Amino acid sequence: MDTQTAAAVSGALLGLVLTAASMQLKGFGGQTAARPMFRAFFLLVSLYLLLLTVAIRRDGPALALLLDLVFATCHSLFILGVIRRSERPFPRGVIVLWGALYLAVSATAASYRVQVGLLYSASVFLLGATLLLYRRGGANLGDRGMAITAIAWSASCLFSIFGLGKPDDASPQLTLSLIFALPVVTALAVCLFLSYVLDDREDLRNQAARDALTEIHNRRYLFERAADIFSLMRRQHTPVSLIMLDVDHFKWINDRLGHATGDQALRAIARSLTQDSRLEDVVARMGGEEFAVLMPNTTLPEAMAKAERLRRGIEAIRIPGAESEHISASFGVVNGEPADRPNLETMLQRADEAMYRAKAAGRNTIAQAELGKADSGTLGQRH
Ligand code: GH3
Ligand code: MG
Ligand code: MG
Repeated sequence: MDTQTAAAVSGALLGLVLTAASMQLKGFGGQTAARPMFRAFFLLVSLYLLLLTVAIRRDGPALALLLDLVFATCHSLFILGVIRRSERPFPRGVIVLWGALYLAVSATAASYRVQVGLLYSASVFLLGATLLLYRRGGANLGDRGMAITAIAWSASCLFSIFGLGKPDDASPQLTLSLIFALPVVTALAVCLFLSYVLDDREDLRNQAARDALTEIHNRRYLFERAADIFSLMRRQHTPVSLIMLDVDHFKWINDRLGHATGDQALRAIARSLTQDSRLEDVVARMGGEEFAVLMPNTTLPEAMAKAERLRRGIEAIRIPGAESEHISASFGVVNGEPADRPNLETMLQRADEAMYRAKAAGRNTIAQAELGKADSGTLGQRH
């Protein structure tokens, strides 16, 4: 067996192993659409290399055309998978046209078939690397690894054509490319798996930070972010404010209108809270019909004004099918200055106490608390 055949056979086997391994690429939503493209890519790498072992021994226009077709399809599948993964609006028609142009040039310049193929491959992989690096939402470590591998492959293709001294002698070019193809295909697969694992981990982290019903952040996320917010506050000497709110007579809403309408009301309240908040505020569902808004760099008057806006926003909510129902919430507001050395637990406790005073005062109202003093403070205007 000669070197080219040996490299092609081992590459074909590797392609099969990677196809089987890529069947295990499963996960959460998101990138699912690109997976079949990459699976088919590995399978076609395998098929191409198997066909090549035959073509090395036997020449013929039909076999050459078949090889070119598989080569073009294989590259198109790779780049289509990358386009889906990068979520960039690259026109897919250009890929098809580029593949067709390659087929036409390869058929007319038959004696330069290897060189034309390597040029085509280099161009496709350079485009793939660019798209991966500019992936919408940011390239992860796996994407960057795939991009580096694609650039290395393109460089090896160009070196094979122009760096071996005799650009018109295809045999050493083919040998070199076949040998390079093995680590390249392996590295692509490893980096692809890594990028999916990292995507899935990111999805899981996002899910763990969100409340399933309202899709706003949850209590756990509030505690996570609070650590950063309080340490920034200490460094920059800025105040932090916290608003707690509890929906009034929510049990009644559920009892009269049903649990599903109650859920709808909770979603509408969560939307109203997030719409009225700044990007740096943390809006969280604490559980049941209780919500909290943690606001970095916010003074007490600012927090009171914000609570009043939120109160009005909730009052204005109308549930489709139950327009005559009025929803309201009672609010507790607390402010922490750096000198108070506040922490989230104490602030939550004080805000909670204030909120219960607002309930006692007739609901749909706002009460404020002082951080240093338990169960003291003033009541906002009654509504
Ligand atoms: P108050 O004004 O004193 O706060 O009265 P309330 O009825 O709101 O207070 P209570 O704590 O007695 O009732 C809270 C209700 O919220 C009871 C529970 O069924 C309801 N609830 C908690 N979580 C959910 C949820 O996810 N969906 C729906 N629909 N209801 C929920
Ligand atoms: Mg409650
Ligand atoms: Mg309630």
